[in-house]
Amino acid sequence: MATAPDSLALSPRQLSSPMRIVFLGPPGAGKGTQAQRLEKYLQVAHLSTGEMLRRAHEAGTPLGQEAACYMNAGQLVPDDIVVGVVVDRLTEKDCERGCLFDGFPRTVPQAEALDRLLADRKIPLDLVIALNVSESLLVERLLSRGRVDDDPETIRERFRQYHQLTQPLLNYYSTRGVLRQITAEGTPDEVFGKIRSIIDAAR
Ligand code: ADP
Repeated sequence: MATAPDSLALSPRQLSSPMRIVFLGPPGAGKGTQAQRLEKYLQVAHLSTGEMLRRAHEAGTPLGQEAACYMNAGQLVPDDIVVGVVVDRLTEKDCERGCLFDGFPRTVPQAEALDRLLADRKIPLDLVIALNVSESLLVERLLSRGRVDDDPETIRERFRQYHQLTQPLLNYYSTRGVLRQITAEGTPDEVFGKIRSIIDAAR
C-alpha cells in the first residue's frame, strides 16, 4: 500500500538511534514552532522549559508562582529551578526515544548541568541548532504574539538577558563541535527545511 502523503515521519529503522538536540535562539526566533515540527518528524520528546514553567504557574504550584515573577519581568528563572524541572522531566519514559530541548539551556551553568545529566546517562548531545533572526523581525513577531511577557519593555529586558546570559552558549557549543547555525527568517516551512537537512546529514 502506498504511504500516506502526510506521513513525513521517519521509519522505525531510521529512528533506531535516538537523538538529543538543543534549539538555541533569542525570544521570538521560532524555537517552539520548529520544535513542534521536529518532534513529529523525529518522534522524540519535546522539552520546552518555558511551557513547563507556564504550566506550573497555571497549576498554581509554589515553583510556578516563583517562576512567573521572573518571567513576567522578562528575566531568566534561576538555574536551580529550571534544572530541577528538566531533571524531573528527563525521568519520563518518552525521553528514551530522544529529546528536543527548546529554550534550555539558556545559561552556561545550565549547559554544564545538561552536560552532567547526559554524561550520567551515558548519552551524547548530538546537535545544537541556533536560529538567527534580525532583532527588528524578532520584535515584530513578539509584539504580534501578545503573551503577558511580550510588552515592549519586557521584550527589551528579555533581549538584554539573552545577549548577556544565553549568547555565550554559541561559543560554548561551537568549541564542542555540535553547533549548527541557520538564518530563521523565512516561512516556518522554509526554516524547517533547513533544520531537516541538518538533521538528515547528522544521522
Ligand atoms: P521565548 O523563547 O519566546 O523567550 P520561552 O517560552 O522559551 O519563550 O520562555 C519564556 C520565559 O520563560 C523566559 O523569558 C524565561 O523567563 C523563562 N525561561 C524559559 N526557559 C528558561 C531557562 N532555560 N532558564 C531560565 N528561564 C527560562
